[in-house]
Order: sequence, then C-alpha cells, then structure tokens
Amino acid sequence: MVRTRLAPSPTGKVHIGNFRTALFDYFLARQSGGQFLLRIEDTDQERLVPGAIEYLLRMFKALGITPDEGPVLQEDGTITEVGSCGPYYQSARLDIYKQHAKELVEKGLAYPCFCTVERLDEMRKAQTALKQTTKYDRKCLSLTKTEAEERMMGGEGCVIRIKVPEGSTTFCDAIRGDITFDNSEVDDCIILKSDGFPTYYLAATVDDQLMSISHVLRGEEWISSTPKSLLLCKMFGWKAPIFAHVPLLLGSDKKKLSKRTGDTAVEEYFNHGYLKEALINFVGTLGFNPSADQEIFTIEELIEKFDLSKVNSAGAILNMEKLDWMNRHYLMALSIEQLAERAQGFVSADLTNILVQRALFVERSRVSRLTDFDVAIAPYLALLPYDASILVWKKADAADASAHLQRILTLLTDIDENIFGTVDLLEAAIKEYITREGMQNGNTLWPLRVALSGQEKSATPFEVLWVLGKEESLRRIEHAIAVLQ
Ligand code: GLU
Repeated sequence: MVRTRLAPSPTGKVHIGNFRTALFDYFLARQSGGQFLLRIEDTDQERLVPGAIEYLLRMFKALGITPDEGPVLQEDGTITEVGSCGPYYQSARLDIYKQHAKELVEKGLAYPCFCTVERLDEMRKAQTALKQTTKYDRKCLSLTKTEAEERMMGGEGCVIRIKVPEGSTTFCDAIRGDITFDNSEVDDCIILKSDGFPTYYLAATVDDQLMSISHVLRGEEWISSTPKSLLLCKMFGWKAPIFAHVPLLLGSDKKKLSKRTGDTAVEEYFNHGYLKEALINFVGTLGFNPSADQEIFTIEELIEKFDLSKVNSAGAILNMEKLDWMNRHYLMALSIEQLAERAQGFVSADLTNILVQRALFVERSRVSRLTDFDVAIAPYLALLPYDASILVWKKADAADASAHLQRILTLLTDIDENIFGTVDLLEAAIKEYITREGMQNGNTLWPLRVALSGQEKSATPFEVLWVLGKEESLRRIEHAIAVLQ
C-alpha cells in the first residue's frame, strides 16, 4: 500500500517547491489507491507562525487537493482531523517520541549529553579553524550510566544524542539511485532536546514508521538528513521507507529560485490571476514530463501517468512564460458562466451583467491572467475618446470610412435582433452583405471594428458587436460617423 505524506513545518506560507512535493505525493498515492497524509511538524515551537496551518489548509482547498489523513479544512471553516494514525500534529505526540528516545538510551544506542551551548560553540569554532567537519566530539559518551543519572538528579539539563556506528550508510533514492554516506561524516545528532521536544530526525522517522509511510518525498536539501533517519530505523529494527529527493527549482537564470524568479507563496500565484488547473499542470510537470510531445495534462492524467523513476534529478527551471501560456489554455477552456465565476475578486465590473460576461469571454483569448481582465474589458464598458484618423483603413480616406460605416449602420439597424445572439451569425450576415454589395473587407471591417471598440487593436468586429448588443453598437457607429464629419 502506497502511503505518502507532506510534513510541513507551520513556519510561513506554502511556497511553490512545497506545493510541487505535495503534488508528487498526491499523484503517487492516488494512482494506486493509496493514501496521502498531511502531518504538521510543529515541534520547533520558536519558529511557529500563527495562522500558518489555516493558511496551508486553505491553499490545499483552493487547489482541490484533499489529504486522506491529517487536518482537513471543512466547509464551515473548522479544522477536523481525519484518519486512523493521528494526532497528525507532532506537538500532540511528545510522549511517543520521548518513549522512543528512552528505548534507544536503554539499548545503549543513544546517550545523554550535558554539554553547554557555550562549550559546543567553542568546539565548533575549533573544528572550523582546523577545517574539520563540525560534529559533536562525543565528550559525554564516556559518562557512565551512574554519572549521567546523578547529573540528571542534580537538575542538570541534558539532550539525547544517537551514537552513530562506524561504517557507511547506503540507500537507493528513487530519483537519484544509490547514495552512500560514510558514517564518520554523520554527526551524533540530537534526537531529544532538553525541553523534552524531539528534533526533526526523531519525530519524522518515528512518525513515518508509525504512520506506515511507504515513500518519503521531499526536497533535495534533505538528502543529508537521510542517513540519520536510516540509522534510526536500523536502531529500532524497522524497515525504512523509500526515499525520493525531488530536485531543486531554479529560476530562468538557472540559479536557485529567488523571490524575483518565482519563489513566492502559492497564494501569490492565485493573486496574480492564475487558475488552479494551470498551476497544477505547471507545477506538477516541473522536473517531470510524462510525454515528450504533450504539455497540457489534467490532474487525472498526471495521477495516472506519474512515475517517480521519470522525475529528473537535475534542477527544474521555472519558466513563467510557459505558465502564462498554460493559463491562457485553461482560460480558453472555461464556459462563459465559469469564467464569470472565476473572475470574482479580479474584476470590478458587475459580473452578473451579460455585457461584462460576454466581454470576458471574448477577451479571454487576448489575456494571460485574470488580473488582466479589468483593463481588457474597459473599452466595452465605456467608449474612450479616440482620434478620427484611426477609423480610416490604409489608403482610404475619411469619406470612404464614413460611407462604409453608414451602409453597415443601415444593415444593422434593419437586421433581426436574433442575429446578435451569436458571433457566427453576425459574421455570416455582415460578410454576406459585403459580398452582395461588392464592398471590400478592409474598407468596411476596419472602420467598423474601430468604431465599436474605439481602439486600433481589439477583438474582431463580430465579437465586439456580440458583446455590445444592438443598441450600443448602433450608438457607437453613429458616434464614429459624427467624429468623421
Ligand atoms: N518538516 C520538514 C519541512 O519543513 C519536512 C521534511 C520532510 O519531508 O521530511 O520541510
């Protein structure tokens, strides 16, 4: 049974890298009917940010990703925990970690350490000066059980460290293949702090085991902590999960992602007017592309096609132009009603108004993001003043433009109202009239389009007519004829 987990520390917003890990976790679990868990790693009390958990859950909800176990945001805004291995907040599981740390001490695989912060600082400084790897020098390993107990009884605070054995630790990363660490490079890391809170290594390893996690997917910055997890598993006699370290995200400058090159919270992407479908497609294919000749994938397709062994081990470049392109694709796929719904919060005009809805529908092929709509639909809401010269087609003159507009005005005045029901009907009626009357497309359609939009560049005249409706269209054509006088 595949069971994956996202284990965020609630220390801020959900960044794009974490979102990608969450998607890969989700794809992997869902494709085999497994489970995707959300576990809140909140043992570092000093780094907690109030509201971070709510924020995280809101993002999951906005993206349509529901964990099978862990805290879930309900419709009414309350948070409930679902699943059978909870609690999924590490701060509520402190006894479990203490118990496990104690077990290792009893087995002689971990030991108490009484070194002060000052001593450890000096030790590190000395090691750095000698260009040595900074790691604990095992001063307290020589304490006898009685000595350690006496110091504890005397009220001296201590941490628990693991005793890293000699030898080497190898694991097969599902993305990178075999990775070996010489244990001499691995620190006797702290697993339990003096305040009784576990460190990441102990808490995550114990939870991954007790929650039956089959695959640990996480960013490549965690590779160096993997030998510690593996050594802990060995000490407890557990089978380790499969580890897969997802490559870094890089900016278009091929450097580690920065705020300038896209390392922003997922919320920012929403605020910039990207649709969830585009974000999932874009982020879910960063460093993983199921097919060389396809870019657009629905979440269902990604779930079906996801393959850990095909995740690229090289850093994935964030190409914002591609995201814009994908967003345009998903904007085009929306119906007029869906578009009006998605535009909420981005468009200041009344979204229940049919003119506004039609303007959005026409302009969706000409914008990249929801935030572009306010500007794009403005010419439909109010005709802006323009220079009469822009109404004139190439080598024609004002009289020619005026004459053509007059003829179209007559046609549209007499035309059946139903023709304004679709862009196609309008196009067919006008083109048929142009042919019948022996007129030229350019001389007719250019002034018509400018008269309707008030702009040199705009959607087709047929689309603008459809958006404006008969009455407003006639008014704008009459206005253009007057401007040409
Ligand atoms: N709490 C760690 C983080 O904040 C989790 C790392 C892991 O997935 O093991 O990213």
